Amino acid sequence: MSLTPQHAASLSAETLVVASGRPPRERDEPVNPPIVLSSTYFGTGPLGDGDRGYGRYANPTWDPFEEALGQLEGSELPGLLYASGLAAVSSALSLVPAGGVLVMPSHSYSGSLVMAAELAQKGFLELRTVDIADTEAVKEQIAPAGPDARPASMLWLESPTNPMLGIADIPALAEAAHQVGAIVVTDNTFSTPLVQQPLALGSDVVLHSVTKYLAGHSDVVLGALVTPNPDIRAALLHHRTIHGAIAGPFEAWLALRGLRTLALRIQRSQDSATVLAERLGTHPRIEGINFPGLANDPGHQRAKAQMKGFGSIVCIQVAPAGDLSGPDAADKLVRALQLWLPATSLGGVESLIERRRRHTAEPLSVPENLVRLSVGIENVEDLWADLKQALDTLDG
Ligand code: PLP
Repeated sequence: MSLTPQHAASLSAETLVVASGRPPRERDEPVNPPIVLSSTYFGTGPLGDGDRGYGRYANPTWDPFEEALGQLEGSELPGLLYASGLAAVSSALSLVPAGGVLVMPSHSYSGSLVMAAELAQKGFLELRTVDIADTEAVKEQIAPAGPDARPASMLWLESPTNPMLGIADIPALAEAAHQVGAIVVTDNTFSTPLVQQPLALGSDVVLHSVTKYLAGHSDVVLGALVTPNPDIRAALLHHRTIHGAIAGPFEAWLALRGLRTLALRIQRSQDSATVLAERLGTHPRIEGINFPGLANDPGHQRAKAQMKGFGSIVCIQVAPAGDLSGPDAADKLVRALQLWLPATSLGGVESLIERRRRHTAEPLSVPENLVRLSVGIENVEDLWADLKQALDTLDG
């Protein structure tokens, strides 16, 4: 690859997204890595560590993205790409020993919660869910008092949480988890390494739904894990190889192409999210707003201490309007939009909006009238004009 580890370590994230993961600087090498479509590789004799061997073990198209993501998250080891964010969740959860205790935010992404709850139902692990913003409550779940109380084997962090945007005190919780020997995994999907670096804050493993900001164009489904710990990485790689949730080469290539503009996209969407949150926060049709960038948000100070910016997801709670309940008013708002796309997912160039409780798996503690906005890179005044005309329909 084109950057030495020393050179990469000296570069800012804004440069790394562009410069990392390039082929060697040799005459007539392409400047972009090629897509390799092959399910197997030439070879004779026993397979060693450096051998690719077979398409489920390795694909050269994964390498540049894995290298770039590892460097962006501040790991000396490359990341690991997976077929989806949830495939990465599954692999990370495989690190919990049989019967071990998993502490998870009660407002984690619903898919992660469903997976953990199903593993718990089958008796594979004990699941303890907790408000991740309540540091003392989380510490009690990590290391409960009493002679028979079992400490956690894994602390799962998601910060900001999806969709409540709760902020965990990552350094304090990672320290408490390490005191009892637990592994700390942080889902960094909402922030990306440009906004938050969980490894530097004490996490052992970082998880991404690459589907979202990293790829950034709502055209691939992929996931990734990064860890600087060689033993943990080896266990995760083994899990990926044996369980088979590997990335397709086209998707891996698209993700790297998307990554090249991550810094610009994040800057633009964060700026717009702040403007929109300030306007929505004082709108009479909105009865609640979650956005850590607002000075009165409960997570504001913590987010300021551990993030560079506040992300570009804003959640609003829509007030009842005339005969309409809050959730019905929220649905009407979403249907009245002409520019924002009514669709699930987030982190793409296009602004997406949805009422979260339309998903049956969403935790019941997420308010029925909560609408999640994923702010894209369109002109902020166009985005506001569309929101405003849709909010105006609730008046009549
Ligand atoms: N983590 C978070 C925070 C998410 O929002 C999602 C998906 O929405 C996932 C993980 C799962 O990722 P994927 O949909 O790529 O499987």
